[in-house]
Amino acid sequence: MDDCLFCKIATKQIPSAIVYEDDGILAFNDIAPQAPTHVLIIPKTHIESTSEIDQSNKGIAADIIAAASKIARDLNLEGHRLVFNSGEIAGQSVFHLHCHLLGGRAMKWPPG
Ligand code: AMP
Repeated sequence: MDDCLFCKIATKQIPSAIVYEDDGILAFNDIAPQAPTHVLIIPKTHIESTSEIDQSNKGIAADIIAAASKIARDLNLEGHRLVFNSGEIAGQSVFHLHCHLLGGRAMKWPPG
């Protein structure tokens, strides 16, 4: 999508600190980290949020989680949290599907 920030990061029109890449996935450091490790994992193709995941494209969710798990293993994280915000009310501010990988500190539950 022409006006999508994460599409521009995926096509490298906008630079990012890339930590992982394959044919369909890009992962890069969040610009405003909420934990010592805060990586965003995105599909290179535009999907607005998890609300658009269905039987036809569910493989992308597995690809995102597999990439997140590889990054967490490579960074030797003791534990980690994966977050998908879906919709403005849930805290989504960039409307291109992304998974937050957070780690490197203790976390509380429930989230705010
Ligand atoms: P969300 O609120 O779930 O939509 O998350 C969007 C995330 O994108 C936030 O954590 C932002 O800090 C992050 N973000 C926004 N712009 C950039 C950027 N140019 N590079 C890296 N992360 C970004």
